Amino acid sequence: MDVSVDTRDGLVAMPWRPDVFQRMMLAIAAIAGLAHLVFIGLMLWAGVTLLAWVNVGSVALYAWTFWLVKRHRPDPALFFMGVEILGHALLAAFVIGWDTGFHYYMVLTIPVLMLSTMWTLRVKTLLAVMIGALLIAADVYLRGRAPVVAVPQALEAFLYYFNLVATLAILGFLAFFYQRLVLMAEHQLRLQACTDPLTQLRNRRFAMEVAQHEAAVFERGGRPLALLLCDIDHFKRINDQHGHDAGDAVLRAVAQALREGVREIDHVARWGGEEFLVLLPGTEVAEAEQVADRLREAVQRLEAGPRAGALAVTMTFGVSVLRPGEGVEQALARADQALYRGKEAGRNRVILASAA
Ligand code: GH3
Ligand code: MG
Ligand code: MG
Repeated sequence: MDVSVDTRDGLVAMPWRPDVFQRMMLAIAAIAGLAHLVFIGLMLWAGVTLLAWVNVGSVALYAWTFWLVKRHRPDPALFFMGVEILGHALLAAFVIGWDTGFHYYMVLTIPVLMLSTMWTLRVKTLLAVMIGALLIAADVYLRGRAPVVAVPQALEAFLYYFNLVATLAILGFLAFFYQRLVLMAEHQLRLQACTDPLTQLRNRRFAMEVAQHEAAVFERGGRPLALLLCDIDHFKRINDQHGHDAGDAVLRAVAQALREGVREIDHVARWGGEEFLVLLPGTEVAEAEQVADRLREAVQRLEAGPRAGALAVTMTFGVSVLRPGEGVEQALARADQALYRGKEAGRNRVILASAA
């Protein structure tokens, strides 16, 4: 499923009303407009000039709501669509008779109403009850009453089943759309729960889960796991000298360099402020050291990056490989000690963890 995550300002886009909502609204406006266009011809053919003119108005209204949706104003669009559906259905039922089934469309205004964010749930519930009452009142008043214009029997039957099928199809489509929206929101929340908003890397919690999983695999005789704990050198200076925003930009650039420097199956997470954890499944210590050194060089090269005035930045790495019978915490503690020794020794280097 395609979920767009807005990384501007480090914010993850709200899952509510994503792009798919606008596309659905545009599709509804376009289909409704076209359907009314067909009805213009049908009503002229049946000799119901009044309804033909009303359909001309409806086509114009749906063209206008299409434009409103394009301008990112779905609420007034929904409102006028609802009013159009109710008014048009009642008028058609009055003019050519209840048995043409135009009143079915009135049912659609309730789910459409629920999509709106113009009103509170209480107001929407009240409006839904009023629509229901209107439908019943119209039923009582119009059913069995002679229409103003009698259309041929065959046309009446056609309209009745066409309107019924169209209403059912639209209801099915709305249900499908609502379900998609819920799934997308859930997917995006899941993604947010394991993503660091600033760098878009996995967060500490997710990295810990992956590490625990890989440790369990290793414990059962599976592949080894290498851990690279790395920390930007003198990052405080970057913040102090160039400002917090520059610091954030450096964090993002480093995150990208780390991500691009490892395989697809590896995991890069933001472990803390300017500290990152790289998990390399199926990697022994010699290879892990090479990877760490490659990453270290990649970060160092960032200063010669395409951006003019880019900041010099280096990183120190502590490398450990999970030992038999060892927990993730212990392996992490060893990597952390190695990292600390790397800082002591002058930074911008890779240090292997000791055995104990
Ligand atoms: P060392 O080489 O020993 O690691 O020195 P350092 O300056 O990198 O380490 P220190 O722990 O003293 O400073 C880390 C700084 O990182 C302090 C903190 O304000 C900054 N920091 C943490 N998170 C963020 C962040 O999200 N954005 C920015 N801009 N700065 C952050
Ligand atoms: Mg640091
Ligand atoms: Mg630090």
